[in-house]
Amino acid sequence: MKALTFQGKQKIAYSQVPDPSILAPTDAIVKVSHTAVCGSDLHVYHEREKGLDCGTVMGHEFVGEIVEVGSDIRLLKKGDRVVSPFTTNCGNCYYCNIGLTCRCQKGQLYGWVQDGKGLHGAQAQYVRVPLADHTLLTFDEHIDPEEALLIGDVRSTGYFCAYQANIQANIDGVYVVIGCGPVGLMCIIAAQELGAQQVYALDGIPDRLKLAEQFGATAINIYQHNTKGIIADATEGRGADAVMEAVGSSSASRVAYELVRPGGVISSVGVHTSTSFAFNPIEAYDKNITYKIGRSPARYFMQQLLQQTTKKYQATDIITHRFNLSEGVEAYRIFDNKIEGCIKVILKP
Ligand code: NAD
Ligand code: ZN
Repeated sequence: MKALTFQGKQKIAYSQVPDPSILAPTDAIVKVSHTAVCGSDLHVYHEREKGLDCGTVMGHEFVGEIVEVGSDIRLLKKGDRVVSPFTTNCGNCYYCNIGLTCRCQKGQLYGWVQDGKGLHGAQAQYVRVPLADHTLLTFDEHIDPEEALLIGDVRSTGYFCAYQANIQANIDGVYVVIGCGPVGLMCIIAAQELGAQQVYALDGIPDRLKLAEQFGATAINIYQHNTKGIIADATEGRGADAVMEAVGSSSASRVAYELVRPGGVISSVGVHTSTSFAFNPIEAYDKNITYKIGRSPARYFMQQLLQQTTKKYQATDIITHRFNLSEGVEAYRIFDNKIEGCIKVILKP
């Protein structure tokens, strides 16, 4: 089959690779109909996270149709339309039972093969899904496959970020989202779904800020405005009740610290590669901060998000580019450089 493979720093190839096959009785094989490039793929692309084997199939966001199931599969069958979270999960371990599906004891991240071990990704014609009965979620024809695809990662990650922000629906709070990439934009929608009345959204890219406004936020261009002053004015000088960080950098974390009020929450879903915190224990103590960080248990939220059909905002408006999988190398270049107003890229095998 054809797939986009990792070939070293900033090198992706459209390659011929072996078709995946059933390796365990709990596996399924999915024929990918839509896959996407994610901000997290860029960490790999730029080798900010090191260790990935050359030749690894990239990508972890996909929807498709089941073409083969292992002998222990009970809930799924050939022909089912399915969406996957970006990590696999068994549905039975301690972590799956408490809803932290992203830390399943048997879980794996798609698109991560190191020293020959791991799971290939989904920017391909086919993908092997371990623990398929509990990892995959079926959806029917009336759901737009692109909308389902977003639920597998950015929509549920944005929701998780807002969920962790402890939004108080009945109090007129002030909330801030840092970063208006796909995750931050989904976070803006989710914060309002959870009851936030005032959401400020920070970025430096005008097209993204425009979409943030379309999704109900007050946009702040970090290069043009005094963010701290605006948030201080909106909160009688206190600072935001919660700051949701969807960037993954020390500078964004530092801004989150500076904008949050004493006793407030910083909810962070950006993937961080720094080895130290952007604020120190004394600063955290002096502001009584609650700091929540980590990978999104996407599978835990997916069912609910798939059923939420009456939505005020159209999440798929973040999709700015659609390519064939064969154009994937160029798609990475455009996505990485954020050119042509690129926010989210869909690839069709
Ligand atoms: P993205 O790169 O498209 O978006 C990041 C946005 O932040 C960009 O628009 C950029 O202009 C903006 N930005 C950068 N520095 C900023 C700053 N100091 N202040 C304000 N804005 C700033 O990425 P994305 O796809 O939206 O993903 C965001 C992050 O979430 C990435 O780190 C990604 O790896 C991570 N992620 C985490 C999970 C999880 O489970 N926790 C899941 C998916 C993605
Ligand atoms: Zn992703």
